[in-house]
Amino acid sequence: ATPTSIMVGTGRAAEMGVLFRKGEALQTLRSAEIIAIDKTGTLTKGRPQLTDLNTAPGFDHHTVLALVAAAEARSEHPIAEAVVSAARAAGLAIADPEKFEAIPGFGTRVAVAGKTVHVGADRLMARLGLDVSVFASDAVRLGDEGKSPLYAAIDDKLAAILAVADPIKETTPQAVRALHDLGLKLAIVTGDNRRTAEAIARKLGIEEVLAEVLPDGKVAAVRRLQADGRKIAFVGDGINDAPALAAADVGIAIGTGTDVAIESGDVVLMSGDLFGVPNAIALSRATIRNIK
Ligand code: ADP
Ligand code: MG
Repeated sequence: ATPTSIMVGTGRAAEMGVLFRKGEALQTLRSAEIIAIDKTGTLTKGRPQLTDLNTAPGFDHHTVLALVAAAEARSEHPIAEAVVSAARAAGLAIADPEKFEAIPGFGTRVAVAGKTVHVGADRLMARLGLDVSVFASDAVRLGDEGKSPLYAAIDDKLAAILAVADPIKETTPQAVRALHDLGLKLAIVTGDNRRTAEAIARKLGIEEVLAEVLPDGKVAAVRRLQADGRKIAFVGDGINDAPALAAADVGIAIGTGTDVAIESGDVVLMSGDLFGVPNAIALSRATIRNIK
């Protein structure tokens, strides 16, 4: 491609709110076969709400919610915000934890009111040696509803199963259809639970799901998709997406996402939704066609 045509292409993209930070991405994007997409904040709004809390025998609903909120009070995870707002809405006092620890990809641990509280995914409970099978049917149902189940342990006893729901962005289904119309394969890459991710994939008609990916595993997920020499574009918004954005053949950052993600992207979508992706790909194909 000539430098002039790339300048024209990137200029037209900018008018559509698609920022090419690297001119060569305009050419690479044309040959992308798979679009791997982060779930939380990219396909979904990234603003989950607490929808469920079922306590284990011997635990009181409000006591558990207040302790879970204390465990999440200092966390920056979107799930934490959902839990804290729910406790506030219930009029509960949220104690300030004495000791807070974020366990990336797992959850949180705090010491509060003389108790140790853990909140997080089933694998966090597994790490504590806690059996969550009393909540097995709840977990299946919640996951199938597209909600993310999480668990609370108080002083090393399983206290509750909770769930948060993160609605799909209004523009996502149409963007997914446009990507399929361009002949692309789509994959979800997420740290979230498998059933939840599969429910979202089913709803959107996305064919591949890489779930329960730990924060440092997103790069490996991209490499796996690249296996047969296929070109991958990765779309994401979070701090934990930055390495995958860099590892992909083309990294596409959501412009409303974190600074780290934006700096790691070859392409930035200013509109904050997925719709820039099919636009950018269509433009990339048209630009390169004109050059030939
Ligand atoms: P993602 O944002 O894609 O879900 P993360 O690596 O941030 O990926 O988290 C993976 C999973 O770990 C979450 O889906 C959740 O189950 C659990 N988790 C992480 N942080 C927290 C937290 N602060 N509170 C509750 N659960 C958490
Ligand atoms: Mg995200």
